[in-house]
Amino acid sequence: MEQTLSIIKPDAVAKNVVGKILDRFESNGLRLAATKKIQLSKADAEAFYAVHAERPFYGELVDFMISGPVVVSVLEGENAMAKNRDLMGATNPKEAAAGTIRADFAESIDANAVHGSDSLENAAIEINFFFAAKEIC
Ligand code: ATP
Ligand code: MG
Repeated sequence: MEQTLSIIKPDAVAKNVVGKILDRFESNGLRLAATKKIQLSKADAEAFYAVHAERPFYGELVDFMISGPVVVSVLEGENAMAKNRDLMGATNPKEAAAGTIRADFAESIDANAVHGSDSLENAAIEINFFFAAKEIC
């Protein structure tokens, strides 16, 4: 069974739609192997998005990710990584297909409701970043 990391970002947590987003995962064959709500520190967010450190939006992205709590989950299922990316929709909610999480719950390219790992290699790194082995079951 494949595993991938999901983050429900501060905008969606503030809008009180955590349950609705988790339901999208469960209703589409993904199981919650781990879930927790946390407030990221600036160092956490900088490290998590280090791959984007040279991009012009990096500072805003880090500030946004620490603007409130997030809900991180390990999603498990067949093709979990790609399936989660499909459920999320395009990075820019204005381009996201109808019925996707970003089309339904996100406002803008920076406040875009969810993160999902973009490769199996990154999924393993990101799961390890947030969860101890005994928290995943
Ligand atoms: P995520 O990594 O959050 O799942 P993604 O893989 O769809 O999103 P990335 O290209 O990895 O998109 O960008 C990471 C995040 O940086 C995006 O989710 C978005 O919040 C922000 N971002 C990306 N491009 C821009 C941009 N042009 N302007 C502002 N923010 C951006
Ligand atoms: Mg990404």
